[in-house]
Amino acid sequence: MEYDSNNVFAKILRGEIPCHKIYEDDAVLAFYDIAPKAKIHALVITKGMFVDYPDFVEHSTDEEVAAFSRSIIAVAHHLGLQKEGFRLVLNVGKNSGQEVPHLHAHILGGEKLGAQL
Ligand code: AMP
Repeated sequence: MEYDSNNVFAKILRGEIPCHKIYEDDAVLAFYDIAPKAKIHALVITKGMFVDYPDFVEHSTDEEVAAFSRSIIAVAHHLGLQKEGFRLVLNVGKNSGQEVPHLHAHILGGEKLGAQL
């Protein structure tokens, strides 16, 4: 799928839509999900324009993949989720229900989560 720069996360990156920011560096932006599905629900997005995780892995450098992976864990720790754990979700495509076509990782935690993956 071709990247559509009109998606909501691209607008957040351009500063056209506000977000409740948690963390930002050259490679990623982390912010709270607007419709939380757990007590703590954060999103980590790449600054690079990738539709989803397969697109990212295929078209980015090893350094970019490592930076994204490490940022997700750093944000989870920053949110205090290290001890009790958290769920990491990467929706990919139609069957996953992916709504926003810009790579993002969901970090869910802060409470005991349901059995559903
Ligand atoms: P996905 O279904 O994996 O594409 O998840 C997209 C997520 O983005 C959903 O959990 C939405 O609640 C969230 N979302 C949509 N718009 C915004 C926004 N403006 N700020 C923060 N989160 C958003």
